[in-house]
Amino acid sequence: MSAISLYARATAGHDDRVANALSVLREAALAHPGRIVQATSLGAEDMVVTDLIARHGLGIAFGTLETGMLHAQTVELIGRIEARYGVPVEVYRPDAAVAVHFVKTHGERAMYKSVALRKDCCGFRKLEPLGRMLAGRSAWVTGLRREQSNARAVVPFLDTEDPERVKVNPLADWSWADVWHYIATFDVPYNPLHDEFMPSIGCAPCTRAIAVGEDFRAGRWWWEDQDLKECGLHVKEDDPAAATESPLASSLAMPLDETLGAHR
Ligand code: SF4
Repeated sequence: MSAISLYARATAGHDDRVANALSVLREAALAHPGRIVQATSLGAEDMVVTDLIARHGLGIAFGTLETGMLHAQTVELIGRIEARYGVPVEVYRPDAAVAVHFVKTHGERAMYKSVALRKDCCGFRKLEPLGRMLAGRSAWVTGLRREQSNARAVVPFLDTEDPERVKVNPLADWSWADVWHYIATFDVPYNPLHDEFMPSIGCAPCTRAIAVGEDFRAGRWWWEDQDLKECGLHVKEDDPAAATESPLASSLAMPLDETLGAHR
């Protein structure tokens, strides 16, 4: 059964939420000319945001994190975006020497050994490359939605907490049904893994399908405490997840809020 047939529903206010998202994006693009990027995780929400930006010709660049651990279907989406919309997608990868050293030292399955090692892995595969993506930029766009988790329940459309860089969340008030209704309406390309009961897709070792009735993000880092399930990309310093921040992540120059995790 496809994700569209499972989730897409036209609900009251959908058109208003689409119009508002477009307005938020348009204003952000005008406020940060040449200095704004969509950090796309290539998930369903981010594909909607990419479609809004590309179809309306807003001046927002596209960037993604190729962690070296993604499913082939996820990596293929990069080429599908470029072909569909005729736009380039900047691809940021981890430092190869750091990756080799980490795997040599801690093994291929390090992320399952401890929260600290998992966060170290997210640190060099996501946070550090995200820092490169955001360098010199004054705004970035995400696909965060309040409905995604308790930690994201208060996501604003414009997060100005960081004085150096605004985080723009145009889908903050969207529901999962909204996301899929938009994808169906505009035939937006999406990851086929969503059709296999993976609503939230990250790296292959850290993503599994969910069962009926399970939480939206139950398939992410499922072996960890629920409160710790963020990669650091969108973690506030006073969040529980930040309390277990790894030594590697804390050594990064950027605050955790900016450093990554690919709404992944
Ligand atoms: S999601 Fe998993 S594989 Fe990906 S960077 Fe984080 S710990 Fe590593």
